[in-house]
Amino acid sequence: ESVVNRIAAGEVIQRPISAVKELVENSLDAGSTSISVTVKDGGLKLIQVSDDGHGIRYEDLPILCERHTTSKLSAFEDLQTIKSMGFRGEALASMTYVGHVTVTTITGGQLHGYRVSYRDGVMEHQPRPCAAVKGTQIMIENLFYNMTARRKTLQNSADDYSKIVDLISRFSIHHTEVSFSCRKHGAARADVHSIATSSRLDAIRSVYGMAVARDVMEVAALDDDPSRSIFKMDGYISNSNYSAKKTVMVLFINDRLVECSALKRAIEVVYAATLPKASKPFIYMSIVLPPEHVDVNVHPTKKEVSLLNQESIIENIQTVVELKLRNCNT
Ligand code: ADP
Ligand code: MG
Repeated sequence: ESVVNRIAAGEVIQRPISAVKELVENSLDAGSTSISVTVKDGGLKLIQVSDDGHGIRYEDLPILCERHTTSKLSAFEDLQTIKSMGFRGEALASMTYVGHVTVTTITGGQLHGYRVSYRDGVMEHQPRPCAAVKGTQIMIENLFYNMTARRKTLQNSADDYSKIVDLISRFSIHHTEVSFSCRKHGAARADVHSIATSSRLDAIRSVYGMAVARDVMEVAALDDDPSRSIFKMDGYISNSNYSAKKTVMVLFINDRLVECSALKRAIEVVYAATLPKASKPFIYMSIVLPPEHVDVNVHPTKKEVSLLNQESIIENIQTVVELKLRNCNT
């Protein structure tokens, strides 16, 4: 049974970045305003995510890492969210089958927190009282220690670390209400450092640099015709001065970081036709639409989504982008 669990867990947590994404999303769900990520050896030695969110109650600790344990399943309408965001209550459980998980947490009004470690879905010992400030710290050590082949394919720790930095960069320009940091274990300097309450443009500047921030323009689209699609988009896209080696598309749909290659390609087509010299744009977009219109395909780690009325949404966005590019060109 444990082999089956490990294989399933290895599907949910494919690389260090998958674990980081799940942990950060949990921290966001916990209402955090500050999230710090520390990584050692590309995440294979250590991934640590600390937040100042609402914490985990003592009585929830024993079952925290059991499969399908989630505190996010309160109302019937949440079923829609489950459908749209894929699997639920799998992430932490999965991590305990492929790494050593230690949770330190304190809930509001408590004098001390608790620390407990997990293996294969269960607590290794009773939670131990410990000093804690606010929120939760989750530490994963020795990721894939029991998956030799996986460890071998992940030997390029610099590559995994830069993927994690890129991930936190993406989160930090969308969630401007949250301070993010990401650093290598033991490093004095953070590689991502964003301050909450700054404007979106400030966040883009602090994370992607002056060159990007100087060359982006605001875009927005709205379609409220229920016969086609209902959606709202706002974002920042680069202008004719910006050129890069590859397109950067940071896409949030209903506040979840996702990928939509059809939309990305459609926007690249508009750039190629309108600004051929700047055909590898920087794009940040936040799209909001009814959750039941979003479909995350099959796999929990594949954040590729498809949308109901995708064609009309994409066309609408293409039109908005094209108009914006034509205006900036003249
Ligand atoms: P899900 O996020 O789908 O509910 P997870 O396995 O990611 O499943 O997390 C299980 C549960 O653990 C969550 O529902 C939440 O109650 C709790 N949890 C995990 N991380 C945190 C955190 N950083 N702060 C507060 N609660 C957390
Ligand atoms: Mg989660």
